[in-house]
Amino acid sequence: MRRPGIFLEVARMRAPGVEYKILVQGQTHFRCERLHAEISTGECARRWQGATLRKHERLVSCQRCPIGAIHAQPESPPVAQNGTTPAPAPVKSSLCIRCGRPATRLIWGELCPSCSNREVEWRRGANGRGTAPILYKPIRLWRVGVVDRDGRVGWQKFSGQNFGEALARAVRAGYRLQGDRPGEPTWNAGAGRFEYRDDAGRVLLELEVDGRIEFVAVDHLRVGEVPASVTMPQMLVTPEEAAELLPVWLSDEELDQVGTDWRQVDLGCRSCRAGVLHARRRGGALECRCSAACC
Ligand SMILES: [Zn+2]
Ligand SMILES: [Zn+2]
Repeated sequence: MRRPGIFLEVARMRAPGVEYKILVQGQTHFRCERLHAEISTGECARRWQGATLRKHERLVSCQRCPIGAIHAQPESPPVAQNGTTPAPAPVKSSLCIRCGRPATRLIWGELCPSCSNREVEWRRGANGRGTAPILYKPIRLWRVGVVDRDGRVGWQKFSGQNFGEALARAVRAGYRLQGDRPGEPTWNAGAGRFEYRDDAGRVLLELEVDGRIEFVAVDHLRVGEVPASVTMPQMLVTPEEAAELLPVWLSDEELDQVGTDWRQVDLGCRSCRAGVLHARRRGGALECRCSAACC
């Protein structure tokens, strides 16, 4: 039997003029005037995020709700910032950005001693015994769907050995995660590839400006132009969903790598959109949690 994740609502910002009450331990409820219902602040935040980021029609009453916007923030108030640069998220100083393991000391402020040793060995081209490390995956850039502090939904490139690390870097830079796709993935039989198309069927090109990615729709590709690369959608799931889905999604080999210690996986947290999920094995079951400790 799979054990669900542990459920504790994240402490959320409180809206002025709203009366809160504790009906269930670990949760805060209030009377929502728009929904004419008693709901938890966590439910409110999820609805607001769903309405704002995903534009779910059934959540239309939650769009532009100022109380939802406040509940969607974790308890620490957002830091004042200028322009479009996101304020840095609270530093999760004890978690390695690459493997997610807690460390008493992080090298370069981000890697546990084990991950940093492997990186140093790789940079040297050889490990301590003089043989080239073969298990090291080189760092590359990943396209991460993000929402900035102004609520603008977009994509940015972040580096990482794996996608989870890129997600962790985005979160640490103060962005929230989003799982939209730039366009509809469409098979182009003539070219033998998938392409993103907009609603009018135009091909999307990917332009990068200071790490920020803009998608531009064109009717025809000019010589030398390459359409935006189609990648797997950026999955955002709750820790509970991840505990159910990972045993199905992961190969046996990948599952074997999940040991009894928490390990970061390539999934963003749908509950808070401000954390990366961790998994571990416990008594034959898979447990998942969020790096932002939201649930
Ligand atoms: Zn590490
Ligand atoms: Zn979370």
